[in-house]
Amino acid sequence: MPPDRRSDDLLAVLRRGGDPCAITHVERLPRRLGVTASWPEWTPAAMVSALARKGIEAPWRHQAQTAELAHSGRHVVVSTGTASGKSLGYQLPVLSALLADPNANALYLSPTKALAVDQLASIESLGLSGIRPALYDGDTPIEERDWVRAHARWILTNPDMLHRGILPAHARWARVLRRLQFVVIDECHAYRGVFGSHVALVIRRLRRLARMYGSDPVFVLASATVADPAAAAQRLVGSPVAAVSHDSAPRSGADFVLWEPPVMADAEGENGAPVRRSAPNEAARMMADLVSAGARTLTFVRSRHGAEQTAMTTRRRLGDTDPDLVDRVAAYRGGYLPEERRELERALNSGSLLGVATTNALELGVDISGLDAALLAGYPGTLASVWQQAGRAGRGDQRALVVFVARDDPLDSYLVHHPEAVFGTPIEAAVTDPGNPYILGPHLACAAAEHRLTEEDLELFGDRARSVIDDLVLRKVLRARPAGWFHHETRHPADKVDLRGSGGGQIAIVELDTGRLLGTVDEARAPAAVHPGAVHLHRGQTYSVLDLDLAAGVALVQADRPEWSTIARSVSTVEITETQQQQGYSGPGEFVSARDTAGSGGREGLATGGRGQLPTGGIQVGLGRVRVTEQVVGYLRRRPGGELIDMVPLDMPEHVLDTRAVWYTITNEILAEAGILERDIPGALHAAEHAAIGLLPLFAGCDRWDIGGLSTNLHPDTGEPTVIVYDGYPGGAGFADRGHQVLVDWLTAVREAVRDCTCAAGCPSCVQSPKCGNGNQPLDKAGAVVVLDLVVNAMTAKLVALTG
Ligand SMILES: [Zn+2]
Ligand SMILES: [Zn+2]
Repeated sequence: MPPDRRSDDLLAVLRRGGDPCAITHVERLPRRLGVTASWPEWTPAAMVSALARKGIEAPWRHQAQTAELAHSGRHVVVSTGTASGKSLGYQLPVLSALLADPNANALYLSPTKALAVDQLASIESLGLSGIRPALYDGDTPIEERDWVRAHARWILTNPDMLHRGILPAHARWARVLRRLQFVVIDECHAYRGVFGSHVALVIRRLRRLARMYGSDPVFVLASATVADPAAAAQRLVGSPVAAVSHDSAPRSGADFVLWEPPVMADAEGENGAPVRRSAPNEAARMMADLVSAGARTLTFVRSRHGAEQTAMTTRRRLGDTDPDLVDRVAAYRGGYLPEERRELERALNSGSLLGVATTNALELGVDISGLDAALLAGYPGTLASVWQQAGRAGRGDQRALVVFVARDDPLDSYLVHHPEAVFGTPIEAAVTDPGNPYILGPHLACAAAEHRLTEEDLELFGDRARSVIDDLVLRKVLRARPAGWFHHETRHPADKVDLRGSGGGQIAIVELDTGRLLGTVDEARAPAAVHPGAVHLHRGQTYSVLDLDLAAGVALVQADRPEWSTIARSVSTVEITETQQQQGYSGPGEFVSARDTAGSGGREGLATGGRGQLPTGGIQVGLGRVRVTEQVVGYLRRRPGGELIDMVPLDMPEHVLDTRAVWYTITNEILAEAGILERDIPGALHAAEHAAIGLLPLFAGCDRWDIGGLSTNLHPDTGEPTVIVYDGYPGGAGFADRGHQVLVDWLTAVREAVRDCTCAAGCPSCVQSPKCGNGNQPLDKAGAVVVLDLVVNAMTAKLVALTG
């Protein structure tokens, strides 16, 4: 069969089976030949022949470039597509160094155990002598740990183990740290938001100790394609990093379809809004059609429960049309056990399974080669994940079929109408904020416990380190002595620092029947995530929350299979406590003033509060610190298909969050001139705020639940109509800062998403928000477009004035 026939046939199957208008775009990703380079001249002969035995005759150009930079002592990040062979880029310099110097060592960090296991197998398969690679993670038996510390030279571990196991016991790792030549950070785009900020500080702790033992390792990072990988890597490592981002690996072609499910004729959403068919239901229908056509298909959904439902729906449909095929469709719900993954790989590769619905568990580290199609039921959270999931499909020379099925929300619907956001220059950045004092503080305490902190160490930890240390001294966590700052508790503080936590308190999620601790959730997020009645997903399993006791720090849950999901609704007030940057425009097109109170030396602000001290009037854009007081007022229950069941009111205590925010203000006069009546201002701002929260994740790689917002026709701190978007974590995770950095692009996308939505007066795909505490009222869709036009036009006119 000619390579293109298969995907054309499958595309025809899709067109026949669904509403043809649902296809908003088909991107034909061409087949591409690889570009090779010669082996770097320093590559040991043993490696060249070991790789040749595996069929690798020459490196791709990006692999050689990465290797050369690392070998020359530069920190480097390679940011190329899925399956482009990033690992050879770091294996070359690291293995060469280990072969050349019998005392040299390397660390390898990966975000998942499965990936480290695969990496170990990859190194072992080369059969090079003297490398002694070894895993060191929570599963490593005690007796093996001693061997790893004493003998292993390529140690494969993860940031949590580094943080809790290796750095606090650094004296026992002296052999490794003395000659630590390379640190590899694989899949480094996974380190973003709060987790990424923690990891950045763990890496600074590692660098400090390595220096103390006399080494200064070179960092080699591997990343999915993101916007500005060098900047993201630099934030992670704390020093300049060179980027290699031109992908020269070969690629088999694919047809990538963007699909928007139709509006359901018989369903009505909140305030009478139209509702689209749910992405998992739509994907299940497609998978049934594709399996009937003999296509091996993988469908990605968000939860394990969702995977089971999708597989069940697919099987039910096949029961009507092709009963023989019912048993060849399954859900993947096996966790991460290697043998279960291998079993599934075998079943899919042999064709005994034709359709599998899965969570993102199958996104990475799975060797599936025979798939015809990948269906993505909803945005998986990042564009990097979109490409990982899409990359699962492809069979040799044959073009694969990939379908992205939009959920009924602004981000998904923006993507299906803006193919350039998916296929063009990457717009998503891996955002972190290692300067967040809530995260920096605990890591400085850990660092001091590992070895006294000195003046020279401050530079490594950034501008805010000094003030955070002063605060730790005041709180008696650290003691200031002439020789430096000391941590004086006997217990190492690392045990209390959860790399996935916000630096605030944690609520334990406990299963009532067994007393088993399932995990923790940030105190700040607990009222929204684990309020009584909430349906809580944990590692793909569904639980119902019976009780939340904030004072005791416990949420009690039980395993459950309710026929609905829940979404918390909350209301908030926001006080601007410090304006750090502000730009003003007198009206559309006229730039008035810019004020960066952060100065040149960092982001310590000077101004407190808004009114009077900073210019007002016109259109103002600000960035700074805020205090959010939030209260969960109830929750919605929704069926898997998206229909609303009801809203259950709750009486929950308020909680306070000190964080960072980006905002804009527009005077009543400007709004009036633009035709917005005073009574319509709240609805216009509210709609613009909702859509902005829906789309920031596309630029910041966060979740819409990671951020919050507020709109008001009169904010006490600005004295004007104001829209605020804030980070949902104490001290912020970098999301508001990223929003401020890309404000024009972000708000332009928001304007287009709202303007282009086909609904009459607002729906979940544009201005309605699932978490709105005001029941999505008032919302003025047309007014929002006017507001966004005003801000975007004012800001772009200024850019033209400055550059033109
Ligand atoms: Zn709409
Ligand atoms: Zn709202």
